[in-house]
Amino acid sequence: MVIETFPAGPLGCNCSILVDPASKSAIVIDPGGDFDLIRRKLEAAEARVTAIIHTHTHIDHVGATAEVQSWSGAPARIHEDDRFLYEMLPVQAALLGIPLPAICDLDGDLADGAAITAGAIDLGVLHTPGHTPGSVCFLVKSAAGSVLFSGDTLFRRGIGRTDLWGGDPRAIKRSLKGKLLALDDATRVVAGHGPGTTIGEERRANPFLRNG
Ligand SMILES: [Zn+2]
Ligand SMILES: [Zn+2]
Repeated sequence: MVIETFPAGPLGCNCSILVDPASKSAIVIDPGGDFDLIRRKLEAAEARVTAIIHTHTHIDHVGATAEVQSWSGAPARIHEDDRFLYEMLPVQAALLGIPLPAICDLDGDLADGAAITAGAIDLGVLHTPGHTPGSVCFLVKSAAGSVLFSGDTLFRRGIGRTDLWGGDPRAIKRSLKGKLLALDDATRVVAGHGPGTTIGEERRANPFLRNG
């Protein structure tokens, strides 16, 4: 499996492309914007997108979703509890002062425990509400170890804000302690914004995970 992560869109959301080298099947995580950039990377990898998946539906994580969807024909998938946020994209756009992106139909089937496959890639869904009600993390196991795509639930030395629509500070603590800190220390973390980290590093050094 080849994983490429790069900032995309107006707020620099980390978009990831996972490609299975044998089948060229690919998964796109959080196409936040910059469709041309995402398309060029997929074309360079000769990849065929089989799923477009989202850690949550804040506008900076879905900005290029409709374009990737119509170009690839792959289903665009979310956790159902975040559908209301997609339906209020105009409100999100107005609040953040960024243009309203094109929209598309979404499948709300990223439930806790669901598996998404692309060739030999097998990716699991962890429902981690708090930043938004339908926030999820994606866990993928590879020969080089496990990788967690944590969205805006866990950052390097930080956690997601809970003051936006449907945010819940108690729920995010439950998600972090119950689901993410239950993972192996060696698990690499690709966060929704900014640099990556590991579960072990955050267990030791993230001030938001220490108490409460
Ligand atoms: Zn967010
Ligand atoms: Zn974000």
